[in-house]
Amino acid sequence: MEILLATSNPHKLIEVRAILEPLGFTVIGLDAFDTEFEEPVEDADTFMGNAELKARGYARMTQVRCLADDSGLVVDALEGKPGVHSARFAGVGNTREARDEANNTLLLEKLEGVSAEKRTARFICAMCLAEPNGGIVAQSEGAFEGVIAHAPSGTNGFGYDPLFYVPDAGKTSAEMSSDEKHSRSHRGHALRIIASKIAQ
Ligand code: IMP
Repeated sequence: MEILLATSNPHKLIEVRAILEPLGFTVIGLDAFDTEFEEPVEDADTFMGNAELKARGYARMTQVRCLADDSGLVVDALEGKPGVHSARFAGVGNTREARDEANNTLLLEKLEGVSAEKRTARFICAMCLAEPNGGIVAQSEGAFEGVIAHAPSGTNGFGYDPLFYVPDAGKTSAEMSSDEKHSRSHRGHALRIIASKIAQ
């Protein structure tokens, strides 16, 4: 079965393909279409609300069953911020890399003086698979627990990975191989749940 993954993030396409293709799904990205689609406005105040908006919007525009995710970092000492605003926390940067760097710098600034035991955080990923007619096929949510380090470490992954320290692994998620990250991550958990819901 063909599924469109509603993302322009190549890291996410790789992660999703690694999990769904062995189960018999063909995963295509938005780059499979010649058309430029209008990006649905992600203005919901929950991860699932935004995942639903994207899945329904792209399924309707492409007429292909569409999987969308919305994810972000929830930091306890910041009352859940950056949350649904994780991608543009600092509000600056013209490229993904520039935004990631500004976001990580701001996160460290906001946590200055916060002790190690109060730096707990988690990545959350909500997923939604929708039909072209707007019907929801399945939904899932996954979490990945960690703490925010005092300095970045590692070059794998994207976003907040260099600051996301996973105590029982003894490293940040940017120091994990992609397989190790898939096996533990919020996106990996959410994907395996949704895959088990839709596998025939
Ligand atoms: P979105 O899900 O594409 O809207 O983006 C959510 C934002 O949360 C990303 O731009 C990253 O800043 C952050 N994020 C989500 N998942 C991860 C992850 O696995 N590693 C690092 N940062 C992440």
